Amino acid sequence: MATFKAIVIEKTETGSKAGLADFDERNLMDGDVTVRPEWSTLNYKDGLAITGKAPVVRRFPMIPGIDLAGTVETLTHPEWKAGDKVILNGWGLGETHLGAYGEKARVKGNWLVPLPAGMSARDAMAIGTAGYTAMLAVMELERHGVTPMSGPVVVTGAAGGVGSVAVAILCHRGFQVTASTGRPQEADYLKGLGATEIIERKELAGPAKPLGKERWAGGIDTVGSTTLANVLSMTRYRGAVAACGLAGGMDLPTSVAPFILRNVSLLGIDSVMRPTADRRTAWKRLESDLDRGKLAAMTSEIGLAEVIEAARNIVEGRVRGRIVVKIG
Ligand code: NDP
Repeated sequence: MATFKAIVIEKTETGSKAGLADFDERNLMDGDVTVRPEWSTLNYKDGLAITGKAPVVRRFPMIPGIDLAGTVETLTHPEWKAGDKVILNGWGLGETHLGAYGEKARVKGNWLVPLPAGMSARDAMAIGTAGYTAMLAVMELERHGVTPMSGPVVVTGAAGGVGSVAVAILCHRGFQVTASTGRPQEADYLKGLGATEIIERKELAGPAKPLGKERWAGGIDTVGSTTLANVLSMTRYRGAVAACGLAGGMDLPTSVAPFILRNVSLLGIDSVMRPTADRRTAWKRLESDLDRGKLAAMTSEIGLAEVIEAARNIVEGRVRGRIVVKIG
């Protein structure tokens, strides 16, 4: 029996339980490409899956891990060949399909994008789904016409994974960035990524007025709930806010005032089912628009055995920046 090391989540009577185990290769799911994951990463959603705090996992047993960078081993898919370096994120990996925290993955070739030539597999996962989502949000703001000339922009949940990469990309693009954080002790870290102003999370946490003082031309929100409502009410005339997260809650207690009186746009960001063309553009842009020195400064590294503890930390909001996971 051939097995490989993996984090495996099993269903229990009270919920689910995750542990490091030997996984039987015969139980891999259908797919036309077998990949050897070399690096993965820890995202908020991985934290939810491993702790069982939200129903992310849709089949058991599950190997969690929503993204990987690795090498193609065997395949029956026409687009790839053995030895190709690839990235995979989303498409249900770690949710409905066995995921990245294992030494082997069998997936669909259509889900893969090539690892950009100038990027290592480790850097790709330092970026990971969080960074790629930040890039999608920046692209969406740009598509809406928000430029550095439009005025300052705000990033919420700034010391987290999506937030840190968003701050770094926006600053690289020449934006003046306000970083909102619940961890004022991370002010120097956020200034190091390029933020010009740091505000406390609580400034945006209370009930939102229909219209607040116009502060920002745009925003990237990873928090949701009253935070997103406040950002919307403080967005300038014809500005836009890209909403991609729910770290503070899934509700959105707002009014139509910002939309009908200030022409503000709320831009939704989904990374999971994003069409391949957008994915390739985003990964290409990440090659040029994200300073690798800043990426290194926001990244820490763990092995498979440390993933479960790190998962608890990320759902408690104790992780700064990005965590890469070395597989194998
Ligand atoms: P992280 O845990 O790394 O970052 C989230 C940050 O939000 C924290 O670091 C903290 O930042 C802030 N935060 C946490 N709890 C609260 C709270 N109760 N109230 C206000 N702020 C809070 O997660 P990620 O960056 O990986 O993900 C961020 C969000 O984006 C998650 O909700 C995730 O599910 C979502 N996401 C969505 C994707 C999509 O496709 N739409 C893809 C990837 C992520 P600070 O300490 O600076 O305040």
